[in-house]
Amino acid sequence: MQYHAFLIKYAEIGTKGKNRYMFEDALMKQIRYALKNVDGQFDVTKEAGRIYVNAEGSYDYEDAVEALKRVFGIADICPMVQVEDRDFENIKKQVVAYMDQVYPDKNLTFKVDARRVDKQYPVGSEQMNRDLGEVILEAFPQMKVDVHNPQVRLRVEVRQKVNLFSVVIPGPGGMPVGTNGKATLLLSGGIDSPVAGYMIAKRGVKIDAVYFHAPPYTSDRAKQKAVDLANLVARFSGPMDLHVVNFTDIQLYIYEKCPHEELTIIMRRYMMRIAQIIAERTGSLGLITGESIGQVASQTLQSLAATNAVCTMPVFRPVIGFDKQEIVDLSEKIGTYETSIQPYEDCCTIFVAKHPVTRPNIRGIVSSERHLSERIDELMKTALDTVEVIRCQG
Ligand code: ATP
Ligand code: MG
Repeated sequence: MQYHAFLIKYAEIGTKGKNRYMFEDALMKQIRYALKNVDGQFDVTKEAGRIYVNAEGSYDYEDAVEALKRVFGIADICPMVQVEDRDFENIKKQVVAYMDQVYPDKNLTFKVDARRVDKQYPVGSEQMNRDLGEVILEAFPQMKVDVHNPQVRLRVEVRQKVNLFSVVIPGPGGMPVGTNGKATLLLSGGIDSPVAGYMIAKRGVKIDAVYFHAPPYTSDRAKQKAVDLANLVARFSGPMDLHVVNFTDIQLYIYEKCPHEELTIIMRRYMMRIAQIIAERTGSLGLITGESIGQVASQTLQSLAATNAVCTMPVFRPVIGFDKQEIVDLSEKIGTYETSIQPYEDCCTIFVAKHPVTRPNIRGIVSSERHLSERIDELMKTALDTVEVIRCQG
């Protein structure tokens, strides 16, 4: 069966009352963006409570479905046949043709679920259910009606046109990106932060990212891995700016001046400070990290408190309560895992102490940071002035 249209059902945005049109428009924009790289011409329109995607001429069905499965805000993707001639005899004919083409194996149970959305239409919903069920049974005697638990639920919606659909492909859920402000993701080359970015984008938040690299201790290849991951997340979140910060001099300075067991915490605090300045300058309302309680020494509650203490913006940590395996499962599902496990060095692992503190005391950390007072402002300014911005389009 060659479909030329999809009906897009959305879930949560249906409850937004007066602002609903804004959510619908954002969803349509994201759908258009997702389909830009798919072979074919697509027309995205809306009609009271429904969004349609019409493919004009030939197109790549599989790719179109895959692209739609990445658009947050979509609950279901229903490939449909749209019938223009609403004459009831014609609808009967089209319904039989639909069942014939979509279900070559006729050994199945079905139910017709008709809805007369246009109340002017002369045939009522109940009547349609009976009459359309009857013509299907006449045409395909092997098919049986089961009103309680049918294998196929054929939906017939009579609107300006008539929509026929029965196949339902689950979308990713969530809210359309762009309906909930912007946040800045601290994106490392690891498994956790791309998943964290995905989860926040799923709630409708537009995302930018910051990656700290430390050449020559971290290679160009490690940086490329962060770019690759940003592009993978952008397949869901839409285009994002990746801010690449050269962190080497700050790290070396911390290494020179501070107790080595506190290196990681102090370094993480400077990462947060710099990310926050970039976030403020680029209109983000929060930071996102891939931290999870207890995963490593820098993620105990005490360490998280010490890192968090330098932030005035909210910090979103969507995987905070996840086990590593749960994060891995999600990263496999969204397609970032294979890239994340490539073995390139991370700037966090270069200067690590053998025995990092696991219960840092904030006052102690603050007093260690006083040793940096001479040059740190200047080093931070240089790091911010030399940020490289890479546009990641997915
Ligand atoms: P991930 O798998 O996301 O790298 P991780 O388990 O390796 O996480 P850490 O290295 O402690 O954990 O980092 C915690 C969080 O700090 C990361 O999830 C990420 O948000 C941020 N982060 C760590 N290193 C970097 C980096 N080089 N650039 C940007 N953000 C980073
Ligand atoms: Mg890491």
